[in-house]
Amino acid sequence: MYIKQVIIEGFKSYKEQVAVEPFSAKHNVIVGANGSGKSNFFHAIRFVLSDFTSHLRAEERGRLLHDGAGQNALSAFIEIVFDNSDNRLPVDRDEVRLRRSIGLKKDEYHLDKKHVTKAEVMNLLESAGFSRSNPYYVVQQGKIDLLTNMRDEDRLELLKEIGGTKVYDDRRKESLKI
Ligand code: ATP
Ligand code: MG
Repeated sequence: MYIKQVIIEGFKSYKEQVAVEPFSAKHNVIVGANGSGKSNFFHAIRFVLSDFTSHLRAEERGRLLHDGAGQNALSAFIEIVFDNSDNRLPVDRDEVRLRRSIGLKKDEYHLDKKHVTKAEVMNLLESAGFSRSNPYYVVQQGKIDLLTNMRDEDRLELLKEIGGTKVYDDRRKESLKI
């Protein structure tokens, strides 16, 4: 599974609809002048895949909507198109489109044009291996500094969590208590 296209409209510096593509299944590098929207692009992806904070306040949504000279977007959406030919997402389709739309009053998700709840999106991503408790599938700049400066013991803990073995350590500890 990999992202093959990202469509953005009305989000931060992205006013008109833009389809960012193509992506490689391996590595991709995004380059551009200062202020050209690289960080906003990654924010857009994070917004769909890892930002599940319970409730966005109207002013927070307002900050995410494109704000041009006197021309503010009233709504925005980001659609991530996955290549799912390996069926990692438990959906029986080779292409899956996940869209998050926001407006001053709305914040909703669509999976292949069908309305889905935030919980359904989280479950879907989790079953494809996107850990909910440890969203390290998106590693931001500051997090890399944090990782390199961490104490070795803490880094090991984190690796165990990401690798999925921490849960067994916890269960072992629990079983030894009895
Ligand atoms: P750098 O190389 O400096 O890191 P960048 O390519 O990462 O730059 P971004 O931070 O993605 O650039 O884009 C910054 C631009 O986005 C700024 O000009 C900022 O004014 C604009 N911007 C941020 N939020 C909005 C918004 N809600 N509406 C319109 N423009 C916005
Ligand atoms: Mg940047």
